[in-house]
Amino acid sequence: MQKDIKNIIDSDVVVIGGGPAGFGAAVAASRQGLNVCLLESGNIIGGIMATCPGMPIGAAYPNGMSIGGILDEFLKRLYTMNPPAAEKRKCRLTEFGPEVFYDHEIAIFTLFEMLQEAGVKLFLNATALEPILDENKVTGVIYYDKNGKNTISTKVLIDCSGDGYMAAKAGVPFEKGDEAQGQMMAVSLTFSMGNVEVDKIEEYDDPYFTKYAQKGISSGRLHEDLHKIYWFPGFHDNTIFFNAVHIKDVDGTNPFDVTGAAIEARKRVRQLGNFFKEEIRGFEKSHIGTMAPSVGVRETRRFEGLYRLSGDHVFSGRKFSDGVVCCDNAVDNVCRGSNISEYISLIKYGIYYQVPFRCMLPRHIENLLFAGRCISADSAALASVRGMATCMGLGQAAGTAAGKSIREKKRIRNINYEELIQELREYGVNGLNGSC
Ligand SMILES: Cc1cc2nc3c(=O)[nH]c(=O)nc-3n(C[C@H](O)[C@H](O)[C@H](O)COP(=O)(O)OP(=O)(O)OC[C@H]3O[C@@H](n4cnc5c(N)ncnc54)[C@H](O)[C@@H]3O)c2cc1C
Repeated sequence: MQKDIKNIIDSDVVVIGGGPAGFGAAVAASRQGLNVCLLESGNIIGGIMATCPGMPIGAAYPNGMSIGGILDEFLKRLYTMNPPAAEKRKCRLTEFGPEVFYDHEIAIFTLFEMLQEAGVKLFLNATALEPILDENKVTGVIYYDKNGKNTISTKVLIDCSGDGYMAAKAGVPFEKGDEAQGQMMAVSLTFSMGNVEVDKIEEYDDPYFTKYAQKGISSGRLHEDLHKIYWFPGFHDNTIFFNAVHIKDVDGTNPFDVTGAAIEARKRVRQLGNFFKEEIRGFEKSHIGTMAPSVGVRETRRFEGLYRLSGDHVFSGRKFSDGVVCCDNAVDNVCRGSNISEYISLIKYGIYYQVPFRCMLPRHIENLLFAGRCISADSAALASVRGMATCMGLGQAAGTAAGKSIREKKRIRNINYEELIQELREYGVNGLNGSC
C-alpha cells in the first residue's frame, strides 16, 4: 500500500467504471454480501447509456429470449412503470434484432436506485489512476478525486472502464484496432431533435435520409462523411434520435484525439440541425434537444485473456462450457478507417453465440478481471460483443465470480466454472450451458 496516500476504505471488490459492465459487476458482487466500491470518473453512471442519451439497448433478446439476469431486472422495472419508461421495438436496420428504447433520465435514476438497494458504495468523480500490485496480485487501487490521491485496498479488482486503464497499468497485454492496420471504429456524437412533426417526414422508410444526405453534401452544406444519416424516432413523441456524426481515425485513449473529435463533431451536428430545419418537411420548428456531452468511443483496448473470442466463434454461433452470456448482435463495424459502416447479421442465420468467462481473465494477474468492451476478443468479435446488454451480462458474471473466489479463498481462474454458470442460472441468466 502506498504509505503517503490516505487509504479511504478496505473493500472486498473494487469495480472501475459505472457503465453497463461496471453496473452489472457491482450489483452482482454486492448482492453476495461483499463490501463493494464502484469508482466512476464522471458525475453520472450508465457509461454510454448516460453519455449518449437515447441510445437503444441492443442484443438483449437473442433468438427472441431475454439474456436474463440483472439486465432483465432493470428492464422489467422500466417496462412496468406507469407510464412505461421503456419499450421493445423492431430495429430499423434489418441486420439487428429488437432494441430497447427508454427514457434515459428514468433509466439512469433506476441504475442509481438498484446500486443503492444492492448496497454498493458509489464514488462519483473518482478517477482510478493505477492498481497497487504485490507481484502478480492486486492489493488496492489509487484513485483521484477533488481532495487529491486516495487508495482503496481490495481483494478483487474488476476493470470495467471501457478503455481498460487498470488492466493496462497492471501490464496485461492488449491490442487496439483491426488486425491488418490497427484501425479502430469511429467515435460518434449522438443527439436528438425535439419538436419534430414525425408524421410529416416523407423519407420515413429510409433510415439514412439518403436523398437529403446527397443533396447536402453536393451543395457543400454537409460534411462528406454524412452520406448516411442514421435516424429513428426517439422514445418520446416528436423527437428524432441521430447516430450519424462519426469521426474516424480517432484513438479513444488519446485525449487530444478525443478533444479534436468532440469539437469537429459539434460543428457537424450544428450543420445537420440547420440543414434539416431548412430542407426537410416536419423539421421546420424543430430544435437540437438532447446532445451527448462528448463523442462516444466504441473501441480501444482488447486485452489478452485466458481465451480469445473470435469472429469465427461469432459467425458459427459457438457455445462454450464456461459461456456466461448469450449474444446475437450483428458484427457492427462502424467506419473503421473509412466512412463505410458494415453490418453482418447473425439473426439472419438464426444463430447466437456465448461469451466464455475466460475472456475476462488475464493470464498473469490473479485477482483482476476485465469486463465490458475491453474483453479478450478479436476485432470482428468485439464489433458484435460490445452491445450494452452483453456488457451488463459480462459484468454480472465478473461480479459473481469475484464473490465466489473470495468466499472460497481461491484464485479466480481456479473457481469451478460449472458452479459459476449454475449460480448465474439461479440468478435468472438465460441460455447458458448451450441450452438457449
Ligand atoms: C456511439 C456509440 C453507439 C453505440 N450504439 C449502441 C447501440 O445502439 N446499442 C447498444 O447496445 N450498444 C451500443 N454501443 C455500444 C455500447 O454502448 C458500449 O460498448 C457499452 O456501453 C460498453 O460498456 P462498458 O461498461 O464496457 O463501457 P462504457 O459504457 O464506456 O462505460 C465505462 C465507464 O467507465 C468510466 N471510466 C473510464 N475510465 C475510468 C477511470 N479511470 N476511473 C473511473 N471510471 C472510469 C467511464 O466514465 C464510463 O462511465 C454504442 C457505443 C457507442 C460509443
